Amino acid sequence: MTTRPNELAESVDLERVVELDRRHVWHPYTQMQDYLQGAPPLVIERAEGSRVFTSDGRGFIDGTSSWWVALLGHRHPRLVAALERQAKELCHVSFGGSQTHAPAALLAAELCAVAPPGLTRVFYSDNGSTAVEAALKLCLKYWHQNGRPQRTRVLALDHAFHGETLGVTALLGVEVFRRPYAGALMDCVHVPTDEAGFERAFDRIEQELRAHSDEIAACFVEPLLQGAGGMRLYSSEYLRRLRELTRELDVFLVIDEVFTGYGRCGPMWACELAGVVPDLLCTAKGFTGGILPMAATLTTERVFEGFFGDVSRAFHYGHTYAGHPLGAAVAREVLEVYRDEQILQGIVPKARKIERAFAALGELPNVHQARSLGMMGAVNLKASEGGQGYLGQLGWRVSELARARGVLLRPLGEVVYVAPPVNIPDADLDELLEAVREAVIKVVIGKC
Ligand SMILES: *Cc1c(COP(=O)(O)O)cnc(C)c1O
Repeated sequence: MTTRPNELAESVDLERVVELDRRHVWHPYTQMQDYLQGAPPLVIERAEGSRVFTSDGRGFIDGTSSWWVALLGHRHPRLVAALERQAKELCHVSFGGSQTHAPAALLAAELCAVAPPGLTRVFYSDNGSTAVEAALKLCLKYWHQNGRPQRTRVLALDHAFHGETLGVTALLGVEVFRRPYAGALMDCVHVPTDEAGFERAFDRIEQELRAHSDEIAACFVEPLLQGAGGMRLYSSEYLRRLRELTRELDVFLVIDEVFTGYGRCGPMWACELAGVVPDLLCTAKGFTGGILPMAATLTTERVFEGFFGDVSRAFHYGHTYAGHPLGAAVAREVLEVYRDEQILQGIVPKARKIERAFAALGELPNVHQARSLGMMGAVNLKASEGGQGYLGQLGWRVSELARARGVLLRPLGEVVYVAPPVNIPDADLDELLEAVREAVIKVVIGKC
């Protein structure tokens, strides 16, 4: 752990931070009534590499890359330098068609060069939700003005997570996120996927698509790994079948790589593991290495040209910060760091460590479905009476124990997982995996 004179800690009164936070802040995904009465939150002051530090000088390994964004670790010096350089030139300018700038134009070309072949057009937005929202609107408007206006429905999987805007909420396969808004959502076919049942799910998709392809604009999937829905893996074979089927029926396939991209699953994109190229691909999170919120929706010449014609056929959609120069400059540097530091090559041995550690956890009582893919490893913890999905509590007990040992985790209910920076140093990865092992053992067998 590095220490250094701490200027902020002197000027900021920690108790006051917590007090003001409790008085005014509404945290996402948090029952604030419990929060107000519970233990005070950690006050994070700075972060570096795979660690975050509190004002009182404690350091923690960031086991989940800070909501899955800090893929190159926190504050990678080259990303910070790129941000500083760009900030001295141009921070924001409107990005409507009458003007452009170098960071966004060069980034688009560099992104297409590393994207699955055939994805040659880049639409910028602000975050993962808007990247998927843009994809959704692109698909609907494409069919609306290209001879299939009755294609107004979409298809998504149970346990899917694609973001939070109201359009995207229709796609969500996690009930706590969707049910309260169900009455206000667009029509989405949700294909059930039970524990053993991805095979059946993809059979169901085939039935639905063959029966209703007249009405279905697109299928949305997270490739091979459903993240927020519980770190659920499915076989690349199913994704290949879905690609063949959607191609045969001429329904768009949208692949959401917001979580899985940038090496999380091993290669740059998880869809590469299936050899599949989608019609649209969404990326965010690791896109700027956690420096700024920025996202992109990539698509083909076909979709792009489907918006040619009179002005009413254009894509009348955008966000104020679209293509913003700071984000674009950092996103370019991210791609360069991946190249220069051979990030993807470095993942292979780290992924093997994660695989071994989680396979070993799977031998413990009350630990189920040990699994891993690339830089993600997960298990489900079930007390004997069975799990409780997203709202389960066992995962939080593991997190508390891990935190006491200097590791930050954030469970998905009963699912305990790691998704560390993809360049996490080996020593930090070993420490992370050991802390997870000890915490899980304590929770499932009550001793260590
Ligand atoms: C996190 C996530 C999103 C939403 O991204 P935000 O930046 O939080 O809006 C969309 N899709 C997937 C697969 C995600 O993991």
